Amino acid sequence: MSKPVVTRFAPSPTGFLHIGGGRTALFNWLYAKHTGGKMLLRIEDTDRERSTEPAIEAIIDGLKWLGLDWEGETVFQFARAPRHREVVEELLAAGKAYRCYCTPAELDAMREKARAEGRAPRYDGTWRDRDPSEAPAGVKPAIRIKAPQEGETAIEDLVQGRVVIPNKDLDDLVLLRSDGNPTYMLSVVVDDHDMGVTHVIRGDDHLTNAARQMIIYNAMGWDIPIMSHIPLIHGSDGAKLSKRHGALGVDAYRAMGYLPEAMRNYLVRLGWAHGDDEIMSLEQMIEWFDVVDVGRSASRFDFAKLENLNGHYMRSIDDEALLKTFLDTLPYLPGGEAMAALLTPEKAEQLRIALPGLKDRAKTLVELKDGAAYLMVQRPLALDEKATTILDANARALLKDVHDVLVGVNDWTVESTEDAVKAFAETRELKLGKIAQPLRAALTGRATSPGIFDVLIALGRNESLGRIADQAR
Ligand code: GLU
Repeated sequence: MSKPVVTRFAPSPTGFLHIGGGRTALFNWLYAKHTGGKMLLRIEDTDRERSTEPAIEAIIDGLKWLGLDWEGETVFQFARAPRHREVVEELLAAGKAYRCYCTPAELDAMREKARAEGRAPRYDGTWRDRDPSEAPAGVKPAIRIKAPQEGETAIEDLVQGRVVIPNKDLDDLVLLRSDGNPTYMLSVVVDDHDMGVTHVIRGDDHLTNAARQMIIYNAMGWDIPIMSHIPLIHGSDGAKLSKRHGALGVDAYRAMGYLPEAMRNYLVRLGWAHGDDEIMSLEQMIEWFDVVDVGRSASRFDFAKLENLNGHYMRSIDDEALLKTFLDTLPYLPGGEAMAALLTPEKAEQLRIALPGLKDRAKTLVELKDGAAYLMVQRPLALDEKATTILDANARALLKDVHDVLVGVNDWTVESTEDAVKAFAETRELKLGKIAQPLRAALTGRATSPGIFDVLIALGRNESLGRIADQAR
């Protein structure tokens, strides 16, 4: 029987969890779930200058928001530096690594020379076979691996296929810097090995790193994980993803009011497909996802598609679940904290009643919040420009009569309020719209809202009558 699958997500906490990282995490998570394996999380915080605590928090928060969990404790790479150094000692002892005493100036000169001769800038092996007794006094060496100089290194990549790199292009890479700090290349290999990672799924910007990492695996005699390098995400115009295209943190998508369900569904389709299925449940994704089906070409990020998908999820999600997500998300939405502060139990109940009417008109939670704003405002309402125009003297006089009619309605339901207003419209020989517009303006302060009878019910009898009376003359 083959080993259970162990994947890992290994972000560098030098910034937020960007959209490409979110997709990499999703693919790792889905592949683990699909195979009955597990996903691990490793924070690659070895760049001490650029790694920050808020970035670590943002990554973890983003993963949780996307509903992606990981097995066991989070591994922090920097804390494992002693273990990385231990492996270097082993390689030195086995003669598979050596001390390099080149100064930065010598290395610069080496690169210059290579460039002048039209070669790729590679380490020329100065200290590879040199006797360590020639070491200059007082210079701290870097440790380099003795990479094979002949032949080639082949990666059997599940996405890219067989990728062959001539070994002459892979020089003796540094494992330990002269200050004693392990390099990224070494740390990744040691950690993946120690964590028992069987499958590495990451962006294809790491493809050549994979070949370099294989040299370290081979030197240690370790099993090499199965590699899958997934193409990057591009903007809708095919150019490299930039902020303008949506290269934002996952947190920015939450603040734009996208549902995590929609985001997941959108991300999984970036570079992977299951026939023509656009919308799929999490269960279906787990059942269908296989990394070998990830395409080789870059996918394009398309905001309009994401928005449509989000609208679909907003409409199809169960009302209670949507309300919960909305309330959980509210503090992250623009102006959401202010609304959250106004949410008394009474207002929350109004929101619950209003939700079915609001969600049909909203593609995002931000639009839902804007739609719900009428519930939160205090009497007497501030009217927007259009509502002010609607509420002219005639309309205000009409409202006075409508108010009297509605005062007579005791069981406050959509049907009874509608019957009463319609009957009134008939006696005045008015179209319903002629009454609905001023009513809407008085009840919401705006010219657009969900169905006017839904608004009456959501606000409740007292608040509705109060708002109408405020504008009636
Ligand atoms: N820390 C690397 C990054 O964020 C990923 C390394 C890997 O997946 O091997 O790009």
